[in-house]
Amino acid sequence: MQTVAVSARLDQVRYDIRGPLSRRAHELEAEGRRILRLNIGNPGLFGFRVPQHLRDAISEKLPQSEAYCHQQGLLEAREAIAAQHRRHGAAAAAERVFLGNGVSELIGLSLSALLDPGDEVLVPAPDYPLWTAATRLNGGVPVHYQCPPERDHLPDPDEIAALVTPRTKALVVINPNNPTGAVYPRAVLDAMVAIAERHGLVLLCDEIYDSVLYDGAKFEPLAPLALDVPCISYGGLSKVHLACGYRVGWASVTGAERRIRPLLHALDLLASLRLCSNVTAQWAIKPALEGPNEIGKLTQPGGRLYEARAAIRNGVARSQFLTMVTPQAALYAFPGVDPERLPGFDDETFALGLLENENIILVPGSSFNIAARNHFRLTMLPEPAVLDEALAAIERELARTAEK
Ligand code: PLP
Repeated sequence: MQTVAVSARLDQVRYDIRGPLSRRAHELEAEGRRILRLNIGNPGLFGFRVPQHLRDAISEKLPQSEAYCHQQGLLEAREAIAAQHRRHGAAAAAERVFLGNGVSELIGLSLSALLDPGDEVLVPAPDYPLWTAATRLNGGVPVHYQCPPERDHLPDPDEIAALVTPRTKALVVINPNNPTGAVYPRAVLDAMVAIAERHGLVLLCDEIYDSVLYDGAKFEPLAPLALDVPCISYGGLSKVHLACGYRVGWASVTGAERRIRPLLHALDLLASLRLCSNVTAQWAIKPALEGPNEIGKLTQPGGRLYEARAAIRNGVARSQFLTMVTPQAALYAFPGVDPERLPGFDDETFALGLLENENIILVPGSSFNIAARNHFRLTMLPEPAVLDEALAAIERELARTAEK
């Protein structure tokens, strides 16, 4: 019997955060092992609850969630999002906000709206790998600009400018960054805006971690710095409001009206094709943006995320093999293995060994579209004591690797 031939486009598409390693973890779990899942930034897995006022809003509005809504989303929610963006200085409007089943869906929609085959998109490396995957899925070519640890994981605007070609359509900015936890300073952001302006690029600003900040790091949204430049700013409930499972994300389109009109029409068409996003969960948006927010407490000294980050830093400091740029934001650490201490280290082999020997799953750094194979990402969502043990287990596996 002939096997089904799937699309050749998928040959180049990878999302290893849930890739082969994750499938192996499921097999081991089915065999009865308990696996510590450090691979996904999913707060609900680690005892975090969605704030009560969001849960209440959803229960209360369930009876009003039975019909499809407008393809862009509930007006009340879009108004709350636009108002929040305006408070930060962006020229946002509810008619230019699109709600999606997570930012994930809107990333796909945006790239479908923008790309013709062969169009190039500037994407950071390391990146949140959906950006590279969705670019390829839509016929585009991801062109990676480097954000290496030697530069505290910051981009070099001159390098970005040098990568622009007549086919470049868009510049992706993931700030605060996943996986590195870098927060971009104003000078870097201004330089990125200037590049977009000079070359007629659309800025795609993934700001889903905008208030998961440590040590007084200051996040600056990009849209207010780019008033005339076409810009799509993404945010959502998954991280800042601990509600990954609600699948709520938004995209706010800004820039000179004349320039963004076709983009708005394209997004509206694509949003219509999928009718609307989950209506029930959209009712949580306004209370989330206008009510109290716990995340600021979690990232302060004594807060769960702050102390978890400290546990990882201490583990790295104790390690014979690891180095790390301290994350200033988001939910991840991205340590590197010192190549002098472990020559020939291979991140994927290491991650598989850690899973088989220590029952811990994390993500090899090369899954984030970097050429180097000496990094890995782990989430800082578990209790600090659990991370203390995880870092000890990682050190044991590194020592085993060194003996081979
Ligand atoms: N962007 C970044 C940088 C992320 O880390 C994630 C999820 O981890 C997403 C987008 C997608 O989030 P969601 O689809 O849950 O809104």
